[in-house]
Amino acid sequence: MNLSIVTYPDKKLKETSKKVEKFDLELAEFLDAMYPIMMNTNGIGLAAIQVGYAIRAMILNIPDEEDLQSLDNLIEMINPILTSKSGETIYQEGCLSVPTFYEDINRFEFVTVNYQDRDGNTKTIEANGLLAIAIQHEMDHLEGILFIDKLTYSRRKKFEKEYKKMLKEKKNSSKS
Ligand SMILES: [Zn+2]
Repeated sequence: MNLSIVTYPDKKLKETSKKVEKFDLELAEFLDAMYPIMMNTNGIGLAAIQVGYAIRAMILNIPDEEDLQSLDNLIEMINPILTSKSGETIYQEGCLSVPTFYEDINRFEFVTVNYQDRDGNTKTIEANGLLAIAIQHEMDHLEGILFIDKLTYSRRKKFEKEYKKMLKEKKNSSKS
């Protein structure tokens, strides 16, 4: 399975992802294919829509105290539902679909999420810190929402200008 990252302003990213109904080999292979993409791009989370599949699946891998990511810390979430949220936190977020851009975003500090694993088993996770932030960021992707959609009007305008410039420079440099 050959997957690649969909980047803004691709309209695919605005799609609402559909509930996963079948927990079959195809889903397992898809999740297996998502993992190296996230790791090779230094991501801590990746939603299916970011590789072009509008299904409610996402993976997360938060680095440990030594700043290392290992397969032991991989969490695969299918059909996640936020069941509780509290507190407030601000974190400078980035997104594999919005390369080179980072902004402070408000999130809940604590979240509880019900989800299914790749075999369809129901799970619950209580998260805080970076994991809670990443879960909320990835769950937004399932609704077609990007972190830049949360910026104020003036910051969003500034972003659009900078991003356009970045894309143009990238295009020019790939030509030469
Ligand atoms: Zn993202």
